[in-house]
Amino acid sequence: MSLFTAVEMAPRDPILGLNEQFNADTNPAKVNLGVGVYFDDNGKLPLLACVQAAEKAMMDKPAARGYLPIDGIAAYDAAVKGLVFGADSEPVKTGRVATVQAIGGTGGLKIGADFLKKISPAAKVLISDPSWENHRALFTNAGFTVESYAYYDAAKRGVNFDGMLASLNAAESGTIVVLHACCHNPTGYDITPAQWDQVIAVVKARGLTPFLDMAYQGFGNGIAEDGAVIQKFVAAGLAFFVSTSFSKSFSLYGERVGALSVLCQSKEEADRVLSQLKIAIRTNYSNPPIHGGAVVAAVLNTPELRALWEKELGEMRVRIKAMRSKLVDGLKAAGVKQDMSFMTEQIGMFSYSGLSKEQMLRLRSEFGVYGTDTGRICVAALNSKNIDYVCQAIAKVI
Ligand code: PMP
Repeated sequence: MSLFTAVEMAPRDPILGLNEQFNADTNPAKVNLGVGVYFDDNGKLPLLACVQAAEKAMMDKPAARGYLPIDGIAAYDAAVKGLVFGADSEPVKTGRVATVQAIGGTGGLKIGADFLKKISPAAKVLISDPSWENHRALFTNAGFTVESYAYYDAAKRGVNFDGMLASLNAAESGTIVVLHACCHNPTGYDITPAQWDQVIAVVKARGLTPFLDMAYQGFGNGIAEDGAVIQKFVAAGLAFFVSTSFSKSFSLYGERVGALSVLCQSKEEADRVLSQLKIAIRTNYSNPPIHGGAVVAAVLNTPELRALWEKELGEMRVRIKAMRSKLVDGLKAAGVKQDMSFMTEQIGMFSYSGLSKEQMLRLRSEFGVYGTDTGRICVAALNSKNIDYVCQAIAKVI
């Protein structure tokens, strides 16, 4: 007998398990479309020039590494507020946004979840069906009962919007609703601006608490375009949470740069909320790391570097869109009869390809093309060298 005799083996993370399988595959033509990472046209993880320039400037002026304040670098938090709400927006100017630096978007979600558990202990959490696989586990671990709202309609190849509204309409007042601000993971289907208006009306009428997960701002239609949904929630007069991730938009995955912002009714309220967010941080990991936050703050707050970032982010966005078109054309050219044009209606990194689990397994075993069992493929991992092979492989299993 030991303390750990009864400890069960936890299930493997499905995506990491897929990576291990990919790494072990000896097929020289193998392609990994399982990951949630952007690769450039050479299949490489980019190191953005704006990041390198900011790091060079930091190296030229080496600084000692004291502890950061609990809520992170002040210039970083200010830059996040500007990006999410608009630097000259009313919420930022009046000081009614509480923003903290967080360990990635995941950290932003976790700090928000811990705070919400304190103020709304009995609330339920609703996530989309399907959703990013960590949403359910994260909110469950924070002590919530997690259920889902209707989202994907496989038959229609789109959003089951009536179902979504019905789920939200049936939710009890105070329910926390996790919404993907843009570039829905895993489906790639976003709702339209007019549909957002309807969602907001229900959220308001039912007294729900919106938690917007913004992990892909700038990857969909543009920084401002993707952030427009935030403006809608502000205009509706709602209090809400926004988690931000710079993992993808700065290609800084391993630096763990993210944030949580909470829109309150007044500065006085935001000050109180901020004090509680700081308790959540203090009791989890005390304070955030410096490097990634310092890089992002330097880029966002230096006009030339910011312009360079916007250009580089734009190139990533455009390349993903080009790959979507090439995928649709390539599948047609490879003999796929069914209309695959839905892939260009999807947005962001991912595509729910509509392929079944059996087809995905065949793609893996016969062609070394790796996507998830659910049929999700990462369009951002396609490039001019592997696209034809992927199209031919898909055509053979369809
Ligand atoms: N939310 C969603 C929807 C995501 O897809 C991801 C990451 N893939 C995250 C949050 C977490 O982001 P991070 O890696 O910055 O923690």
